[in-house]
Amino acid sequence: MIDAYSEDAPASQALFERASGIVPGGVNSPVRAFKSVGGTPRFMVRGEGPWLFDADGRRYVDLVCSWGPLIHGHAHPAVIDAVQQAAARGTSFGAPTPGEVELAEEIVARTAVEQVRLVNSGTEATMSAIRLARGFTGRTKIIKFAGCYHGHVDALLASAGSGVATLGIPDSPGVTGATASETIVLPYNDLAAVEQALTGESVAAIITEAAAGNMGVVAPLPGFNAGLAELAHRHGALFIMDEVMTGFRVSRSGWQGLEPVDADLWTFGKVMGGGLPAAAFGGRREVMQRLAPAGPVYQAGTLSGNPLACAAGLASLSLADDATYAKLDQTAATIAGLATDALAKEGVPHRLNTAGNMFSIFFTAGEVTNYDQAKQQRVEAFKAFFHSMLSQGVYLPPSAFEAWFVSTAIDDEALSRVAEAVGNAAKAAAR
Ligand code: PLP
Repeated sequence: MIDAYSEDAPASQALFERASGIVPGGVNSPVRAFKSVGGTPRFMVRGEGPWLFDADGRRYVDLVCSWGPLIHGHAHPAVIDAVQQAAARGTSFGAPTPGEVELAEEIVARTAVEQVRLVNSGTEATMSAIRLARGFTGRTKIIKFAGCYHGHVDALLASAGSGVATLGIPDSPGVTGATASETIVLPYNDLAAVEQALTGESVAAIITEAAAGNMGVVAPLPGFNAGLAELAHRHGALFIMDEVMTGFRVSRSGWQGLEPVDADLWTFGKVMGGGLPAAAFGGRREVMQRLAPAGPVYQAGTLSGNPLACAAGLASLSLADDATYAKLDQTAATIAGLATDALAKEGVPHRLNTAGNMFSIFFTAGEVTNYDQAKQQRVEAFKAFFHSMLSQGVYLPPSAFEAWFVSTAIDDEALSRVAEAVGNAAKAAAR
């Protein structure tokens, strides 16, 4: 049965008004404000398996999954139990703990990194990886790609994806010209542009999303990531693979499990924290050994390796076996198929892009292999599709420039809710 929720969400609206008086824009991360789709952002009070419950008592199939972390869905009993047990032992010690060692061992066992440092957010991970690359090479410039988002690090905000793309901000005020001038922004999937930029520049690092998911999903073309590694190394730069989004989501070892690439540093976040704040960067021992206190490049954090976050991350990763990834892949394919079939039936121009089990649908007929092409889509059509899905109890990312995320908790009931909703949503997008 289709739930037809009204556009009005009085309890969420009241919370949004309260919040807007005291929190800039009413939210603590811009894309949550629904600015690019309009309407009232839903304030969530509870999650259970595939479902999110808002302040008005409505239930939604969650295809955001906290922007990626929740591969097992909401409030998985094993994750909650691990957090409760850790909390009962104390919330933070400011001293090393066994849980940090176990989480670091799990990351090293699953990936190509030889050493790893735990931090609190993906932003910290990329910021620190860049500092380390500069410290290691003695160089300053960084190459990044338009539409790739690596968190709100000053040096990486230029032509960034995610909320920056959603709000159409070219470059953020507050980032100094000096900082911006040290970042070279190039088109994604364009190796020739990288080769040209490396000539004559002294570049410390090339950073890329392992598969771009912050301009919508845009997978690297065959050979792009390997070409970046080769070019970086030929020119004495480090290659940083940002796996904050893909890490432990698209396979048990992340994107590197689908496409092994010779990077020097990797960044992780999201899934490895199981819904609590935990992230990491790691890589070759020789590079990581430059980090304080082993080496001179400073990096630290009061709450880094927090015992609750480590417990949630470990519990989440322990559950993530081959069957988990098979289920995520299958569920993503089913949902993408339902949506694209409905859009095709209504004659709505669209393009499905996938990268492992991450996907998004661009409302354009043309191919999307870079940010310029991503921006060609009809955002108005996405908006109509989004609101129709929302009013039928399916929560999509509130932006045309974001990935859709699935969890293993999506069951037949949740799938049939999506199946029943896509037809009306496609009709709305066709208008
Ligand atoms: N890198 C990538 C690829 C991301 O997708 C994100 C967040 O979406 C980040 C870095 C920043 O992570 P955080 O939001 O935890 O700071």
